[in-house]
Amino acid sequence: MIVPRTLSDLKIWLKGHRAFQSRKWESVLTLLATRAYLFICAPNALVGFRVKLPADIAAAAVKKRIRPDKLPHLLDVRAANIELDKFSGKWSSLSDVTDRNNLAALDLSETSIALVGCGTIGSHLARMLVQCGAGNGGKLTLFDTQALDQGNIGRHLLGFGDIGKGKASAVGAELSRFHPQVKVASIEDDALRHLSEVGNHDLVIDATGEWNVQSALNQWFLDGGRKKARAILHSWVFMNGAGVQSFLNLNDEYACFRCLKPVFDGPWRFPVGNEKDELNLQPATCGDGAFVPFTVDAPVMAASLAVRAALDWVNGDPGPRLRSAVVDVRRGRAQEPRHPSPSKACPACADIRASR
Ligand SMILES: [Zn+2]
Repeated sequence: MIVPRTLSDLKIWLKGHRAFQSRKWESVLTLLATRAYLFICAPNALVGFRVKLPADIAAAAVKKRIRPDKLPHLLDVRAANIELDKFSGKWSSLSDVTDRNNLAALDLSETSIALVGCGTIGSHLARMLVQCGAGNGGKLTLFDTQALDQGNIGRHLLGFGDIGKGKASAVGAELSRFHPQVKVASIEDDALRHLSEVGNHDLVIDATGEWNVQSALNQWFLDGGRKKARAILHSWVFMNGAGVQSFLNLNDEYACFRCLKPVFDGPWRFPVGNEKDELNLQPATCGDGAFVPFTVDAPVMAASLAVRAALDWVNGDPGPRLRSAVVDVRRGRAQEPRHPSPSKACPACADIRASR
C-alpha cells in the first residue's frame, strides 16, 4: 500500500476501496478542515491523517477571512498541493491490552466482582484484577471505609498525591487512569452495610485481612443471603508478613473460612508462619491507628495468590481452595496447596452441615 502524501492522493486512495462511498468524501473534507485526525481502521492496520494547512489558508482562517463552511471546498480545490501528516496507530482497547497475556480460555471480563477492602492488599489486587479483564463488561465494585493516610503509602498502590482521599474512590480513579474503558464503582462505606449490593456480584473478594470482616462475610455467604454471588475469596497476610494465603469458598463439601481457625483465640489449622512468634503490633499513636508492620512484598504476593485463584475458578478448575506462600523464608512455614476438610468445631458451618 502506498500511503497518500497529499489530500488528492487520499481522495484517490479512499475511492479505490470498495467500503468507501464517494459521497463520504464531503464528510471527510469537513472533518479534516477542522484539523481533526482521520483514522482508517482495518484488521491489519490503523492509519491516520491530518491536513497540513497551507500558510495562506491558515492565516486567513485565523483572521476569519474564510468562512469555516467554505474551508472544505477550498481544501478540495487545492487538494493536490495540500500535504498530510501521517500516523500509525495500534488497537488499545481494554480487551486488546489485557487479552494478549492470558493463556487460559477465559479472563475476568465476564465476571462481576465485589472487592471488599482497598488497603494494602486490595489496592494492588484491584489493578491486577483489571489487568486480567475485570471492569471490562462485568461489574467491578470497590468497598472501603477509610481515607488514604501517609502511613499507608509505603505498601499501598497509591502514593502521596492521594493522601486524604477515600481509598475506594482513589483506587477507582487510578483504575480509570490505567485505562479509560474500565468500568468501576466505588462505595466508601462498610461493605457489611451493603450486603445486598455485595451479593449482586459473581465473585466476592475479601481483601480486608480483618478477622471481624472475614468472619462476617463468611457467615453471610453460608447463610444464603448472597443472591448472585457464587464464590467468596479471602486474601490475607500472615504474622508480620511471614507468609500469605488465599482461600476460596464455593459453599460446597469443603471447609468454610472459619473452619481454618474454628476457635477465635485458637490456632490456625494450616498456618504459614509461627503463631507463637510475637506479633509486632504497633500501637496507635496520635494521627495513626494501630498497625502490623510488614513490607510491600507481602501484600503483593497475597494479591497474586488471589488473582490466580480467581482465574482458576472462572476457568472451571478452582483447584486447591487454600493456597499459601512463604514471604519471609526465615519466619515462614511452608504449607502445601490443599482442600481443607470442614471442621466439626466450626462455629459458622458445623450446624448448617449437620442439618443438611
Ligand atoms: Zn466452617
